[in-house]
Amino acid sequence: MFFKKIQLACALVLMASAASAAEQTLNIYSARHYPTDEALYANFTKSTGIRINRVDSDDAGILARLKAEGAASPADVILLVDASRLWKGEFEGLFQPVKSKSLDDAIAPQFRGKASPDGGTPWFGFSTRARIVVYDKTAVQKSDVDTYEALAEPANKGKLCIRSGSHPYNLSLFGAIMEHLGEAKTQTWLKGLVVNMARTPKGGDTDQIKAVAAGECAIAVTNTYYLARIMRSDKADDKATMNRLGIVFPNQSSWGTHVNIAGGAVARHAKNPASAVKFLEYLATPAAQAHFADGNNEWPVAKGVTFNNEALQAMSGGGFKSETIPVAVIGMNQVKVQQMLDRVGFR
Ligand code: FE
Repeated sequence: MFFKKIQLACALVLMASAASAAEQTLNIYSARHYPTDEALYANFTKSTGIRINRVDSDDAGILARLKAEGAASPADVILLVDASRLWKGEFEGLFQPVKSKSLDDAIAPQFRGKASPDGGTPWFGFSTRARIVVYDKTAVQKSDVDTYEALAEPANKGKLCIRSGSHPYNLSLFGAIMEHLGEAKTQTWLKGLVVNMARTPKGGDTDQIKAVAAGECAIAVTNTYYLARIMRSDKADDKATMNRLGIVFPNQSSWGTHVNIAGGAVARHAKNPASAVKFLEYLATPAAQAHFADGNNEWPVAKGVTFNNEALQAMSGGGFKSETIPVAVIGMNQVKVQQMLDRVGFR
C-alpha cells in the first residue's frame, strides 16, 4: 500500500512536469499584423506543444518597449517588418546573436544581420517585399517611371504620391539608394522627390495607390503586398483601381528593384532562448516560407521554396531582378538619410 502511494506520487510528479513542458509559453513581440499569420503560429504550437503569447505593436513601439523593460522583459522572440528597424534593434543591443546551422543554411547572408565575431547572427529576414512604382496609365508612360531616379525628374513634377519620408519603408528605400548613388546624389534625388510631390505625404501605401486610382496623383510608391491585396480583391472599386494602374519594378536594367525584409530575432533577455531559436527555425521551413507567399503576398527568403501566388506572379511578370546589397547595410544608412530628409524638407 505504502509502495503504491509512492508510485502514485511519482506518477503525479511526472505528469506535472510533462504538463509544464507542454504548457511552455513563448512570448513574441510582433509588428506583423496579418490575419493570415494566425495559421503560422497555430502550426508551431501543434507541432511543438509550445504555446504562443503575442504582444502586438509597431516596430518603433516594440523597440521602445524592449528598452524600457530591460532585463525584466518577458520577450523571447521579436518580429519586425523592416530592415532598418531590425538593424536598430541590433545596434541598441536588444537582441542576442543566434547560432543555428539550419537558419544559416536557409537564409542567404544578404538577408540577415552581420554575424558577430563569434559567428552568431543578430537577426534574420524571413520574407521579402519589393518597393515598387504604380502609375496612372492614362497620364504616365511606363518609360517615365521605370527607375527610382526618374521619379525625381522634372517631367514628373506634381505627380508623385508617397508616404512620410521617415517611415521605415522609405528610410530603407532611401538607404538603398544612398548605397547605389552615393550621398550627394541621393540628397539631390530626395529634393527632386519633394519638388515632384502631388501633395504633402499622408497615409500608408494603400492610400497612395488609391490616390492614383482617384486621379489625385499619377505616380505612387508602394510595397508589393499592399498592391497584391488589391489585385486579389473581388470588390468592384478594387477592380476599377487595378484597371487604371500600371505597375513597374524599377531599375530592371540597372541595379534591380529595392527589396526590404520582414524578419525576426531572439530578445537579449529571452527567458526561453532555446524555444525562441526553434521558432525562428520553424519560420525558415518550406511550409512556413510558402505561407508568407500564399498568405501575405511576400516572397520567401529561403532558397528553393515553391509557392503559388498568382498576384505575385502577375505583378512581376513571373519574376524580377532585385538589388543585391545586404539589407544590413541599408539599415546602417538610415541615420544619414534622416538628416538628408530634414535638409530637403521631406516630411
Ligand atoms: Fe506594411
